[in-house]
Amino acid sequence: MEIEKVKCLIIGSGPAGYTAAIYASRAGLNPILYQGLQPGGQLTITNDVENYPGYPEGVMGPEMMEDFKKQAERFGTDVRYGIATSVDFSSQPHKVVIDDQKTIEADTVIISTGASAKWLGMESESRLNGSGVSACAVCDGFFYRGQDVVIVGAGDTAAEEATYLSNLCSKVYMLVRRDEMRASTIMQERVLNTKNIEVLWNTVTDEILGEHAVEAVRVKNVLTNETREIPAKGFFVAIGHKPNSDIFAEYLNLDENGYIRTIPGTAKTNIDGVFACGDVQDFTYRQAVTAAGSGCMAALDAERYLASKGLH
Ligand code: NDP
Repeated sequence: MEIEKVKCLIIGSGPAGYTAAIYASRAGLNPILYQGLQPGGQLTITNDVENYPGYPEGVMGPEMMEDFKKQAERFGTDVRYGIATSVDFSSQPHKVVIDDQKTIEADTVIISTGASAKWLGMESESRLNGSGVSACAVCDGFFYRGQDVVIVGAGDTAAEEATYLSNLCSKVYMLVRRDEMRASTIMQERVLNTKNIEVLWNTVTDEILGEHAVEAVRVKNVLTNETREIPAKGFFVAIGHKPNSDIFAEYLNLDENGYIRTIPGTAKTNIDGVFACGDVQDFTYRQAVTAAGSGCMAALDAERYLASKGLH
């Protein structure tokens, strides 16, 4: 297997990874960054980002991530397509296998692999995935313009996606499993003030109906146990995310939900020379700006680690 040696390897290309890359390249660490499954990360499947400081009029997520990438490349980051498929953190230098075919030996590894959408886990959901079932309204909403859709979830993502869908679809049913939403007040107000969104409180998905494509959703009121069928062509799942930490589980300390544990106030993991930043280690804030901040921390920690070992 081909082997390449680097001082600093960054895995993942969201705000955390690119910010780490900007700092690491400006510090002369010549980082290589592998973009992973979803180049640009979760912001590439979102719409307007209105809360990232420095953009008073807001910015489109994909555009912002393109800017992050350009900034990292300007200082010499080697940005590559590729997915880290396995790691060996048992000895220095650390080894990371890319696409099962190439090994990178790295003095420092910065993990910024983010998180991926969660699913309900129903058979009909996986069977109809791509045939009406989706976890990305911005990607797939267009296919259901002028039609009725259902969305599950009650966080900011669900609220944002419901609002997005309401501009395309004739009617959006939003299934909220409790009698309140977790979403921020401003996002909830947008949902509740949108005429063609109907929030069904205390309501869960009983079954997604349809043989080859979604035709209807059977929903259940958890207080009364009553069920009803809602004819709909699209079924959107927006119930949160799972950290992309599986390949590191053998070596790194993870919490009960799979998030990488870092030493508080740092990006350090339990393995020397391995750092984590962004959503893969943050279950609390999960914002682009906090991810970027933690990416900066990871690069500074990596630089100091290399200096302390006489490697830089
Ligand atoms: P959250 O974890 O915040 O919310 C998940 C939602 O899904 C909750 O309402 C939860 O219900 C519901 N849920 C979970 N499992 C199920 C299930 N099996 N069936 C039905 N409902 C379920 O995830 P989000 O993706 O919404 O947000 C993640 C983070 O990103 C948050 O910090 C959020 O603020 C941020 N964000 C910010 C945006 C912005 O500011 N523009 C846009 C999008 C996200 P319950 O409440 O009952 O647990």
